[in-house]
Amino acid sequence: MRLSQLFTKTSKTVPADEQAINAKLLIQAGFIHKEMAGVYAYLPLGLKVLDNIKQIVREEMNAIGGQEVMMTVLQPRELFEKTDRWDDKKVDNWFKTKLDNGSELGLGFTHEEPIVNTLSSYVNSYKDLPIFVYQIQTKFRNEKRAKSGLLRGREFIMKDMYSLARTPAEHDELYERAATAYTKVYDRLGIGDITYRTAADGGVFTKKFSDEFQTLSPLGEDTIYLDEAKRLAINNEIYTDANLVKLGLDKSKLVEKRAVEVGNIFPLETKYTNALGVYYTDKNGQQQPIIMGCYGIGISRLMGVLAEHFADNKGLVWPKNIAPAQIYLIGIGDVVKDTTGLYEKLQQQGIEVLYDDRDVHPGQKFADSELMGIPYRVTLSEKTLSQNKVELTNRSSGEIKLLTADELVARL
Ligand code: ATP
Ligand code: MG
Repeated sequence: MRLSQLFTKTSKTVPADEQAINAKLLIQAGFIHKEMAGVYAYLPLGLKVLDNIKQIVREEMNAIGGQEVMMTVLQPRELFEKTDRWDDKKVDNWFKTKLDNGSELGLGFTHEEPIVNTLSSYVNSYKDLPIFVYQIQTKFRNEKRAKSGLLRGREFIMKDMYSLARTPAEHDELYERAATAYTKVYDRLGIGDITYRTAADGGVFTKKFSDEFQTLSPLGEDTIYLDEAKRLAINNEIYTDANLVKLGLDKSKLVEKRAVEVGNIFPLETKYTNALGVYYTDKNGQQQPIIMGCYGIGISRLMGVLAEHFADNKGLVWPKNIAPAQIYLIGIGDVVKDTTGLYEKLQQQGIEVLYDDRDVHPGQKFADSELMGIPYRVTLSEKTLSQNKVELTNRSSGEIKLLTADELVARL
């Protein structure tokens, strides 16, 4: 991509009401646009980052047998009345609206009911189970506070997966498979070392815990107590002596930390399947309850978490597999022909390049390459070309190397 063609521009200023580092950096770099508090648009480079995160999540869900769907945002009142989740007293963050004829609709804040309702058309026999089905979609929640940029949106992107199983043992197996897939996702995103499986409240309908995945961050709204050796934590909200015993955690080994919930998986038992009257028939022709699990990952929240974590005083520092491009290409002085030639060569190799072909001062180009957090900067000048070389700068380590164009391509 040529930066002269890109409609976004970097900026030195940020909206006055924006406090969070993730939003400030992403707005300044031109990755997102703030529409209003908790509501952000993804611009070309930001969308690439978001898509890279989605793709990692998608690959790991597919690897455990997840089947991708896209449910609807508009939700019928009647469906959620069956599970007693329509009433504002039960769920206080619904955005609701009305049809012309007066019937009420909600904008999806979660999708257990619609998923079970859809699957009920296809699930009858023990042969139809187990199932993992997931989507990556926009969710709407009327959050009271939305001051943390992408960490808490009123409109945000979630991956939500649901499992249907025949027996508790089968459910447990699916649940652990999902938990393992989650760990892989956080590892691939580069935050595996600071993300902990954390026992948390399971909700009113189960005695089990749910498992949150909590990423350490001073911005976190949650307090967790973690056992570093076991890589296991307990959320403050269920921190009792009895629960520590259940989890095999030793109080003296726990450290208190602030963390951001980047995922949450729940054993739902038969709450939604029973309430919606969805059962399966076993080998003996007997009707049996279906055991359900649900598995959420905050896709857009993760983008915010990564932007906070992978940053320095010059801007963003994306890991290679998340970055919107691998190379930020700059030519200094009368070297346009060579720079354009290298741009085309790198493109032919399938390497994603941001070519800063704008008519601006080199200082501005360097600053923008750093603000945008592109992993490598390649600079050509009369000096480097006189040695038949280009300069490769690593955004994260600051390391500089002089390479020939061929060496550069080979390295990448
Ligand atoms: P929180 O306690 O932070 O409000 P939650 O427990 O209500 O989150 P879940 O219903 O468990 O959220 O949703 C699954 C995942 O979706 C969360 O683990 C989180 O990563 C993400 N998520 C939830 N609410 C938001 C939001 N308002 N903005 C961005 N991501 C969110
Ligand atoms: Mg949660």
